[in-house]
Amino acid sequence: MDEEEKSLNFIEHIVEDDLKGGYKREDLRFRFPPEPNGYLHIGHASSICLNFGLGLRYNAPVNLRFDDTNPAKEESEYVEAIKKDVSWLGYEWDTERYASDYFQQLYDWAVELIKQGKAYVDSQSSEEMAEQKGTPTEPGKESPFRNRSIEENIALFEGMKNGDFEEGKHVLRAKIDMTSSNMLMRDPIMYRVLHKPHHRTDTDWCIYPMYDWTHGESDYIEQVSHSLCTLEFLPHRELYNWFLDQLVDSSKLRPKQREFARRNLSHTVVSKRKLLQLVENGVVDSWDDPRMPTISGLRRRGYTPESIRSFADTIGIAKRENVVDVSLLEFHVREHLNKIAPRVMVVLNPLKVVITNYEEGKEEWLEAENNPGDESAGSRQVPFSRELYIEQEDFREEANRKFFRLKLGGEVRLKNGYIIKAESCTKDADGNVVEVQCTYDPKSKSGSGTEESLRKVKGTLHWVSISHALKAEVRLYDRLFTDENPDGHKDKDFMDFVNPDSLQKITGYLEPSLKDATVGDKFQFQRLGYFNVDTDSTAENLVFNRTVTLRDTWAKLEQKN
Ligand code: ATP
Ligand code: MG
Repeated sequence: MDEEEKSLNFIEHIVEDDLKGGYKREDLRFRFPPEPNGYLHIGHASSICLNFGLGLRYNAPVNLRFDDTNPAKEESEYVEAIKKDVSWLGYEWDTERYASDYFQQLYDWAVELIKQGKAYVDSQSSEEMAEQKGTPTEPGKESPFRNRSIEENIALFEGMKNGDFEEGKHVLRAKIDMTSSNMLMRDPIMYRVLHKPHHRTDTDWCIYPMYDWTHGESDYIEQVSHSLCTLEFLPHRELYNWFLDQLVDSSKLRPKQREFARRNLSHTVVSKRKLLQLVENGVVDSWDDPRMPTISGLRRRGYTPESIRSFADTIGIAKRENVVDVSLLEFHVREHLNKIAPRVMVVLNPLKVVITNYEEGKEEWLEAENNPGDESAGSRQVPFSRELYIEQEDFREEANRKFFRLKLGGEVRLKNGYIIKAESCTKDADGNVVEVQCTYDPKSKSGSGTEESLRKVKGTLHWVSISHALKAEVRLYDRLFTDENPDGHKDKDFMDFVNPDSLQKITGYLEPSLKDATVGDKFQFQRLGYFNVDTDSTAENLVFNRTVTLRDTWAKLEQKN
């Protein structure tokens, strides 16, 4: 095996084998087939990266196909959101297709099947049909309508199409085998009546094709070579093939379905239906709420397309389902933001510091590097003055030697600024420290080259000048579910594990360089984490989201427990 081959995933191996076995490179064609019944989530990102990744590897077209056969759940809002998300992830589809584009063709083929005696109209209730279905170990029973004449079937099917019947009165079924060991082969439903307008075909149709009848035929129409889906469709493969067997013209390419494992992420749910429940029950504000595992939620939270793609690449694709820890996703965004996000100073839990030997009314603008790891990121000026904020947790009256922050009688360096020493502090009636009085060493200014500026002290703190600081709303997020696998409990619903404290809104004090930050801008708030400007932000009221903390605080907490 050479290097190139080693890095192939098992789907790519299947494609390689097909190329050796007679497929031409020009035959390769893929599709990503979302149902527009919700927003895309991080699980879809795996499927997108797989399909579009194959397109890039083999220089083959990839269609974006909307599987829009259920007007009860589908909407154009979702179509637009899906297109935006796929583009944002950095992929270009060859053509935009809709299963609904094929309604007429599918109907004509269904009539063909009726004429060949391979489909019939069943007029039983869904309960009766379910009773006859049998079990995996017991064969099913044939419907009393199974042997209707072709003429009668055609007339009834036409009536269904023309709106002569109410919902549930008749369905069209494929005539396959009621004794098959594969339950899906026991005369599966192909069409049902639904008197609902469709987001694209409006009221043109009142019968809608089922997934199994639609999917493979759409692949065939588009001449998709490899139709990749998740493992739950493995038992559907036989039916996928059966439908194709009835139709495929030997001069055309015959699509093949292959399966890979669904990706799950810890501490969340990845199912559009369940995510919709979170939106509808007001657990989150919207599909793009920054706590959601949707692509749009991650985007709003401050994730980059690069970080999502590298996450998907790292976890790769598998043959067996498992749960990927969300900390791996966080690792990828941290890594990318570390490279691209400018550093700034922001205080979230302010404690006032007064530099008693600094002249009142004086201000100085200090040089601050935007990214110590990237010289090209340049620098900015931050104002220094007599009254500053530091974080409350960065000061203690007394502490042991391992506390490398500010304590009475101790010294720290203020980032980009001076060394200060805590001399005394003032407390409120409850004993909380409300102000720390410090002195500074005027010769210790960072970067000034003096001996004192090079003096090493253990701690370096971020800070802001009170009179220059901007106020902003800062939204701190925690995991949306307290359980690692909220979906994995037999006796409990995933909603039982919603974390009531997944969002905390606080006021932050920002260095003034952030004045012009606009929606989507990303920063490292030094010592605190990565943050971006939320879509709710305005020039008057800046709003920031914490994308991720600097370190994995959960890993530490879990170790402690
Ligand atoms: P959901 O239950 O969230 O609606 P779905 O599979 O019904 O998921 P589709 O819109 O039909 O969603 O999915 C489009 C494609 O994305 C399908 O090929 C599907 O198999 C794949 N996909 C969906 N969820 C995941 C996941 N968690 N991991 C990998 N691929 C996924
Ligand atoms: Mg679905």
